[in-house]
Amino acid sequence: MHIGCPTEIKPQEFRVGITPAAAREAVTHGHRVTLQSGAGIGAGFTDEDYLAAGADIAADAAEIFASADMIVKVKEPQAVERAMLREGQILFTYLHLAPDRPQTDDLLKSGVTAIAYETVTDRTGGLPLLAPMSEVAGRLAPQVGSWALQKANGGRGVLMGGVPGVGPAEVLVIGGGVVGTQAARVAAGMGADVTILDRSLTRLRYLDDAYRGAFKTRYASADATAQLIQTADMVIGAVLIPGAAAPKLVTKAQLSTMKQGAVIVDVAIDQGGCFETSKATTHQDPIYEVDGIVHYCVANMPGAVARTSTLALGNATMPFMLALADKGWKQACADDPHLLEGLNTHAGKLTNYAVGVALGMDV
Ligand code: NAD
Repeated sequence: MHIGCPTEIKPQEFRVGITPAAAREAVTHGHRVTLQSGAGIGAGFTDEDYLAAGADIAADAAEIFASADMIVKVKEPQAVERAMLREGQILFTYLHLAPDRPQTDDLLKSGVTAIAYETVTDRTGGLPLLAPMSEVAGRLAPQVGSWALQKANGGRGVLMGGVPGVGPAEVLVIGGGVVGTQAARVAAGMGADVTILDRSLTRLRYLDDAYRGAFKTRYASADATAQLIQTADMVIGAVLIPGAAAPKLVTKAQLSTMKQGAVIVDVAIDQGGCFETSKATTHQDPIYEVDGIVHYCVANMPGAVARTSTLALGNATMPFMLALADKGWKQACADDPHLLEGLNTHAGKLTNYAVGVALGMDV
């Protein structure tokens, strides 16, 4: 199969869909891999790295879209890219069609067979192609939060781990899933005093067993949240209710009960945010202040560490990409019901039930 990977054109997107390691594996499997010249630069991979892996380089995206049997990307295709897709071609990337009718209409019109990273499932009911980005955002949250806690950035001027004779920062993590667990691990590793809140007792039991001693767990009642934000130096929002906007767990009025200069890192901002005062920010201008509380609300946190994110995503997508290339999408999806869950459109038909419900369209 001919696999093509264009340069990402969405603003501030530095990741690339295929790593040199994935290109080499595909070539070893007998496939042809073509990257757009410069596609890997943002993630630190040169054209030479891809050539050394056995891939070839195309001058522009049009050449790739015109010739490849499967397009592998990171972000949803932009309008100019959608215009180049065609029936019989496979598109393997993040799509997030549920809130995006124009993109859905274009994909249906093109006839492309679109497989969305975010709806591929695994045996435990997890989302294996979303998890690596949650891991990245979770581990990054205390890192950016500790930067914001510095006085020059508007924070309280508190060091995460304290020093001998001076206590550490108090970090509260709301939501103990993938993001929250990784955030708590890193914050604890930096020496902070960490508490995780979650609504799932099963999850709290797991965290208590697996990380005993590293951080504390509390049930996420409104009372516990209200009490714990008062003493926290940093509050990390990491809740998710699948398919729904994030619940607002801290109101604007409650900010006045927090310490001046405390920091909020709202990782759940891509689902609307779990603090009433959250609004999405960018890597260029990541923080703002409301009532003396510093807010960090970047919606695409993994973009800050494009190289790590590309490698992590590449590790997760590679087995699926190889299955699609080796067997063709029909056989690969027939053999793997979890990959089949990723199928969103085929030959002008919408094939994902949840997307159909969200958009009010027939499936
Ligand atoms: P997850 O499903 O693994 O975990 C979510 C956790 O939230 C679950 O344990 C759940 O029990 C808990 N929860 C739900 N409602 C709660 C409540 N009211 N109070 C306390 N806990 C509650 O999800 P995840 O992968 O950890 O993702 C968390 C959020 O981070 C999502 O909104 C996701 O979209 C977002 N995210 C953002 C970025 C970014 O760049 N900003 C990157 C990756 C993920």
